[in-house]
Amino acid sequence: MTARTYGSVHEALRRERGSAVGKPCAAPGCGRPANGWGLTTRPTSFSAKAGSALGYSTDLDAYAPLCASHNAQRDHGGDWHSCPRGHVRLVWGTTNGGHCRGCRREWSREYNARQKSRRLAGSTPEPGTITEQNGGQS
Ligand SMILES: [Zn+2]
Ligand SMILES: [Zn+2]
Repeated sequence: MTARTYGSVHEALRRERGSAVGKPCAAPGCGRPANGWGLTTRPTSFSAKAGSALGYSTDLDAYAPLCASHNAQRDHGGDWHSCPRGHVRLVWGTTNGGHCRGCRREWSREYNARQKSRRLAGSTPEPGTITEQNGGQS
């Protein structure tokens, strides 16, 4: 028996369990109409897709109908309780794109820190050079 690919798993899902579209989302406390099958456990297999690893499971029972936002959330990893970085989802919440709000905050903080250190580095005048601050103008 050959290992199931991502595509064949979704084919098998449709064949054995039908379409998930329109079924209530299986995420705790959600219930919005699903837009397809989503993985509800940690992925057991990975396939390369558009340069990034796509996680999936070959266990059909690991899939449940998920709405668009929960499908997006699952695509970014973690589990129902917390994101891959360990933010508790109930506390932090999720953006429309499915990203953890806690991670978003950390990303922007890290981005700002990088920008700041870049600015600081850039504003250090080297000896003998005319800096932007004095502009060389009198
Ligand atoms: Zn949902
Ligand atoms: Zn997070």
